[in-house]
Amino acid sequence: MNDIRLQGIGMTSRRTRDRLITRLREQNITDEQVLAVIKETPRHIFIDEALSHRAYEDTALPIGFNQTISQPYIVAKMTELLLAAGPLKRVLEVGTGSGYQTAVIAQLVDQVYSVERIKQLQDKSKERFQQMGLKNIYLQHTDGGMGWPSKAPFDGIMVTAAPEKIPEELLAQLAIGGRLVIPVGQSQQQLKLVIRVNEMAFDTHIIENVKFVPLLAGTIR
Ligand code: SAH
Repeated sequence: MNDIRLQGIGMTSRRTRDRLITRLREQNITDEQVLAVIKETPRHIFIDEALSHRAYEDTALPIGFNQTISQPYIVAKMTELLLAAGPLKRVLEVGTGSGYQTAVIAQLVDQVYSVERIKQLQDKSKERFQQMGLKNIYLQHTDGGMGWPSKAPFDGIMVTAAPEKIPEELLAQLAIGGRLVIPVGQSQQQLKLVIRVNEMAFDTHIIENVKFVPLLAGTIR
């Protein structure tokens, strides 16, 4: 990719990105680190070129296979919630999708382990991480409801597709003091923050109503 495409022109330009940041502030995103990373992350390279003029609108957009790139506000909110207790070393993401959320969190933590059930989405995301020069992202093509047990425990887990209930496997892979951010439900979904207090105890906080694609079982080549 050439520099022009990476930096963006016209509707993908700096001014357009600045407007997005203003909007996120208006929606009470306050973590300056998160805002700075979102401002510098070229969201337009994570979507089809035909839609790239809409990349800095605060909206979800289609990425093929019936999936969507998350809305910037939700990416900001989930990232802020995950980082609220201090810096994180190891983060698991379930649902790489376009890789946009992955790229954002990867600039704020030591290592990101991201799993995706649709191989073609994962392959595309990998190219984008290379274009951005991100080297701390590890990918696996798998059903992420099971997490990534061999890389556990994680200081943070973020899930970008909604299960009906929180998978036990993910709770088990959370470090003590670790934080899980996950949308839960079917037609009515809530974003939840779960903090692991000790071996046995978890504190759950309901954050807000959300709309995510469902967490599905199995994988697609
Ligand atoms: N954060 C992504 C969101 C993509 S949508 C982005 O901003 O682009 C959610 C993604 O979760 C989809 O790519 C979908 O294929 C994936 N997904 C759904 N169920 C899954 C599962 N069980 N394991 C891994 N990925 C899953």
